[in-house]
Amino acid sequence: MLKKILIANRGEIAVRIIRACKLMNIKTVAIFTVVDSQSLHVKLADEAYCIGSGSVNETYLNIDKIIKIAKKAKCDAIHPGYGFLSENSEFARKVIKSKIVFIGPSPEVIDLLGDKVKARSIASKVGIPVVPGSKGYVETLEEAKTVAEKIGYPIIIKAAFGGGGKGMEIVNSPETLEISLLGAQSVAENFFGNKSVFIEKYIESPRHIEIQFIGDSYGNVIHLGDRECSIQRSHQKLIEEAPSFLTEQERNELGEKVCKMAKELGYVNAGTAEFLYKDGQIYFNEVNPRIQVEHPVTEMVTGIDLVVEQIRVAGGLKLSYVQDEIKINGSAIEFRINAEDPKTFLPKSGKIEQLIAPSIYHVRFDTFVFSSYNVSNEYDSLLGKLIVWGKTRNDAIERARLAFKELTISGITTNIDFHKTILETKEFQERIVSTDFIEKASIKEKIEENEEIKVAALYAFYEKIGAIKRVKTETISEKQRRILNLWKQRSKLEQTRNI
Ligand code: ADP
Repeated sequence: MLKKILIANRGEIAVRIIRACKLMNIKTVAIFTVVDSQSLHVKLADEAYCIGSGSVNETYLNIDKIIKIAKKAKCDAIHPGYGFLSENSEFARKVIKSKIVFIGPSPEVIDLLGDKVKARSIASKVGIPVVPGSKGYVETLEEAKTVAEKIGYPIIIKAAFGGGGKGMEIVNSPETLEISLLGAQSVAENFFGNKSVFIEKYIESPRHIEIQFIGDSYGNVIHLGDRECSIQRSHQKLIEEAPSFLTEQERNELGEKVCKMAKELGYVNAGTAEFLYKDGQIYFNEVNPRIQVEHPVTEMVTGIDLVVEQIRVAGGLKLSYVQDEIKINGSAIEFRINAEDPKTFLPKSGKIEQLIAPSIYHVRFDTFVFSSYNVSNEYDSLLGKLIVWGKTRNDAIERARLAFKELTISGITTNIDFHKTILETKEFQERIVSTDFIEKASIKEKIEENEEIKVAALYAFYEKIGAIKRVKTETISEKQRRILNLWKQRSKLEQTRNI
């Protein structure tokens, strides 16, 4: 069994992993930057090492530095959490080469799934429907035209090695195909170091569902049911639930296919298969080879500690459960509490004057901050996750109401009120949701602002990456110019986001 684990991450997930280790009597080693020195993960770990104050590349993404600390501290494993190095196969390879256990799937599996085109073909092979689209990468305008004509507009051009919602271009008509292809390729090259893109049919107003699975090194793979994560902003999840709206039969059928795919891959450790759902059709989207932000909702409905299971299987133990023992009980909802302006989604920094976490039966608040904590805007804006459970979905909503009455974070702008507004919408309560829920939601001026942000973002982005040599700024309105400036500020920050 593993004895000492370095957590190559920060924030609430670092705290979450440390707590799982403590439960298992495993020693923990934290790494932190100067701005993170107050963080709870530093206080809770048995040992903590400062990795400087530079950029993320010099700190949380500095592979050699992290491995050096792990060796020095005599760690026998590294948990990457989510974001940062969690899907970096080079990191996994180097960790393994240093005779340290990487808590995640093998580097070969990470590589395979990191290529969305390859992932699509594996899913097809086990009978999971994929979104209609190109068979492989699309390089030229001619190829793009042929695919688009075959599947019909609107289409979406996506970076094959993309992530974090970046490098996706929706194309509504042939006129904008060329510029969108160029744009997507440039973003792909700039952000992911590979300009390969592919095309899918753009599914309008889909719902996002996913299946949690985990495998051990004895060939056992189980699934732990489904989640719905349709409430998103800027293609990033904001509210997640378990189970989704699928019937028990649909859930089991999809879960079985996902397990088949994982077995085919020789998948060890936790993973999530993501799908889009529209008009009764389920389409494979991608597999995330790591623990996800929203894993607690699955824990609440199954009673299984996913991080403990991750550590067990990485240490060579068998899964503690077989498929028949997995039962979905009740309903859980997670709200991501971010330090951000709820209208522009720009991260906010500042000192938390007071934090009061709800302490109610069946409520969990995962965080790394506390009263008097200084929140910097160097990293992701996630402050914590409010997770509630109820016997039924309505009970869970009721408990969320109670929890939000208690949850207080003062001194800094957060999206707590935004969540409260969503909670009281008829659409949320009746579960009439889709990935464009927030754009559609009742806050009118936000919608207008969102549109302008999109336009401004497109200009700013193309300008930045040189896809358009010179942006004709005279075509942008005053308001757009103002938002453009905000956006520029935001995209600078986005480079340091970890999810
Ligand atoms: P990333 O890996 O960058 O997060 P994903 O492929 O997971 O990208 O897509 C993120 C989100 O983008 C999805 O949850 C969905 O909202 C939207 N999306 C992706 N592909 C499509 C599609 N074919 N049609 C409609 N929306 C899509």
